[in-house]
Amino acid sequence: MRKMGLTTKIFIGLILGAIFGIILHYVVPAGTFRDDVLINGVLRLFGRGFVQTIQMLVVPLVFASLVSGSAAIGDVKKLGRIGIKTVSFYMVTTAIAITIALLIAEIINPGIGLDLSQVATAEPTIGENAGLVSVLLGIIPTNPVNALASGNMLQIIFFAIFVGIVIAILGEKVKPMTDVILSLNEIMMQMTMLIMKFAPIGVFCLIASTFATTGWDAFVPLLKYMSAVLLGLLVQGAVTYMVMLGVFAKLNPIRFFKNFAPVMNVAFSTASSNATIPVNIETMEERMGVSKSVASFTIPLGATINMDGTAIMQGVAVVFVSQVYGIPLTLPAFLTVILTATLASIGTAGVPGVGLITLSMVLTSVGLPVEGIALIMGIDRILDMARTAVNVTGDAVCTLVVSKSENEFDEAMFYSDNVVEKTA
Ligand code: ASP
Repeated sequence: MRKMGLTTKIFIGLILGAIFGIILHYVVPAGTFRDDVLINGVLRLFGRGFVQTIQMLVVPLVFASLVSGSAAIGDVKKLGRIGIKTVSFYMVTTAIAITIALLIAEIINPGIGLDLSQVATAEPTIGENAGLVSVLLGIIPTNPVNALASGNMLQIIFFAIFVGIVIAILGEKVKPMTDVILSLNEIMMQMTMLIMKFAPIGVFCLIASTFATTGWDAFVPLLKYMSAVLLGLLVQGAVTYMVMLGVFAKLNPIRFFKNFAPVMNVAFSTASSNATIPVNIETMEERMGVSKSVASFTIPLGATINMDGTAIMQGVAVVFVSQVYGIPLTLPAFLTVILTATLASIGTAGVPGVGLITLSMVLTSVGLPVEGIALIMGIDRILDMARTAVNVTGDAVCTLVVSKSENEFDEAMFYSDNVVEKTA
């Protein structure tokens, strides 16, 4: 047990958690013991406890990491170049993702022959769609302390990058402040490593309670929809990212997935890109050979604005809803979906379930009824887990491509087998 790596332990936690959850759902009779003591007691305490502990790190880590990342990149020109490369890469992969999703959904026809009126669980809560100007204005925090306190990621990113740039300009003059932020960053990274030791238990509890609550039954009528989403995610992960890594970074994709597996497991079990930021940054720096300055810039940014997996779910969902309601989509409608889902990906926060809310924006853009969301709500949690794993993989692939192109990359570390698993 001692020798086993963290990846293996998390994976075992995942499998055992699923089995335990299924047993709880089907074998253990409902009642105080199962529902209150196990599901809402022990499993919730250690599952939610694990997630909350990593969430605790997110705001200070994202702030410290982005300030030190942009300060370390140093000159504004280089930062601008990396920023443009990163954002363009994020947008392009999202557009590819949604196109794949639309194609797969058109082939699988997830909504044909389905009457889902009984599956609909609850009325979706629909957010107001803000105009572009107010969206942009919303990125500038009028009160940065407030942004930090409420965890408004886009505002934190804006403020942190700005502070980082100015630190780079002022240099020696503000060294004490730079040191404080660098130390804060170090502390958060060290806390991540410690917390990750509990990941196998946290993952076990999270997965077990998901399966114990849902069981299999809810999935059956939506199997075609689920398969289409999962297939889309698989294609994005196994084809798009592999090609990107091979062509743009000339790196071995198999090696990448070997190094990256623990991050995907955390993303899968927490269903939150934000909660995955700490372990993703750590993996980029300690196992993949990406320089600190690049990883601490691209990963928090990606976790906030890059959601390829979410875009895939939204693409399939659009086709699904259009088929269930018998409203055909035209070519311009498809193009609109590609555009709005790419933008929705920026607006989707990296926390569980938000992709379903921003789906309303995509559905509205092509005149589909937002009530369609209610049809897929009941089973969204499992897909949320899978798409979050793809979301964070997209961030990592982009980070590697950017760091390789900037010569901020240690290839020997990427291929090294002797990486001491600090987190293990
Ligand atoms: N849970 C996803 C994430 O954190 C967002 C979503 O699709 O709901 O990346």
